[in-house]
Amino acid sequence: MEKAYFPMKYYNLTQGYLNSSTHQGTYALDTAGKDSGKDAIYAPFSCKVTKKYVKAGHAYTVWLTSLEKVLTANGKKEYLTMMIVHPEDIAKLKVGQVFKQGDLVCYEGKTGNASGNHLHMELGIGACGWHKNSYGIYTIDNAVKPQDYLFLRNDTIVKNDVYKGTKYSFKVDDNSSSIVKYTTTDLNERKGPGTNYPLVNTLLENTAVTVYETNGSWARIEQDMWVSNNFLTTKKPQNYYKSMEVYNCETLNVRQSANNGLIVGTIPVNTVVSVIEVQNDWTRIGQNKWVYNAYLK
Ligand SMILES: [Zn+2]
Repeated sequence: MEKAYFPMKYYNLTQGYLNSSTHQGTYALDTAGKDSGKDAIYAPFSCKVTKKYVKAGHAYTVWLTSLEKVLTANGKKEYLTMMIVHPEDIAKLKVGQVFKQGDLVCYEGKTGNASGNHLHMELGIGACGWHKNSYGIYTIDNAVKPQDYLFLRNDTIVKNDVYKGTKYSFKVDDNSSSIVKYTTTDLNERKGPGTNYPLVNTLLENTAVTVYETNGSWARIEQDMWVSNNFLTTKKPQNYYKSMEVYNCETLNVRQSANNGLIVGTIPVNTVVSVIEVQNDWTRIGQNKWVYNAYLK
């Protein structure tokens, strides 16, 4: 049975529901990602889009309902619906569309009443919609406190979990399915699980990567980013490169040198890169290959 997971890689609470004007009478949590950019929101469980609200000038909203009952952090087994508010890029989502757990659903945004990119998240039991509460705020039906029901993956980074003196902490799942492995050779990254998929980048030997799922002899180390699992090991080398992921842009320029050197190529969003050295705003990811830090996380 799947566990229900917090849907982002960073937990950065910006508003809770206690003593909070715009969340009155709700169990809504606002969370920003790593920074002010638009972080990805992943399916918290295998789910179906059950409802969508897209209206100019309003907060765009999408409802994801679990396909089966999921195990919750407080030990229950429930069908859950997550309401995701403020994304800008949900026009392409269709009611009935299915996502596997961990799939990219959309990115944080700031449609409606939002001062910056963030996820306004609410959780309800069953396949539920929303209603207007006595404070005039639209909120999910059958609401429960997200931190009682969702697990945090053990690799999720907690940047802040306190709002107005109240801590909103999630239970960490020490057995979350993602695991850290290390490349045993220079390793090609491809858009899918097979050599027929386009090559996007090469990771250096001894780079740490996070494996989210496997498919045959392939391992997914990011959304739409795969490497051969045959050249990964759980044995930690004495020295290894950390890896980072391209985000907050469609493609990232790769330059011959730091400080806006000649462009020698581009790599798409979600590409995982080896971090060899960092010089001020620039990171070297290979021989004569530099990228700008602001688009890595
Ligand atoms: Zn909110």
